[in-house]
Amino acid sequence: MPKCNNCGRRFSYPHVLKTVSALSGYRSMVCPACQHAHTITLASRFAVSLLVVVFPLLMRMLYFPEQPLPGTLALVLLIAVCALFFTPFLVKVEKNNRRNS
Ligand SMILES: [Zn+2]
Repeated sequence: MPKCNNCGRRFSYPHVLKTVSALSGYRSMVCPACQHAHTITLASRFAVSLLVVVFPLLMRMLYFPEQPLPGTLALVLLIAVCALFFTPFLVKVEKNNRRNS
């Protein structure tokens, strides 16, 4: 779990998951203890994209290569949602120089 670069406090799992999820659109993560804003690093965003988008499609291609994509779309979405819950463990943050952006 990422830590605040200012005070060293770890961000909570739900806080990181909410920030990483597509609904939030990678907003800044503000430390609840010291209010410093952090952004998710570009490498972390890339890793999250690989895990949530590429990994489910790869699994589908490996295990169901003959099936058309619409037939296995529910499986792909299920794997993507499951993978999303692991993303807070991959995320690294850096101090945001801009205020609350
Ligand atoms: Zn802090």
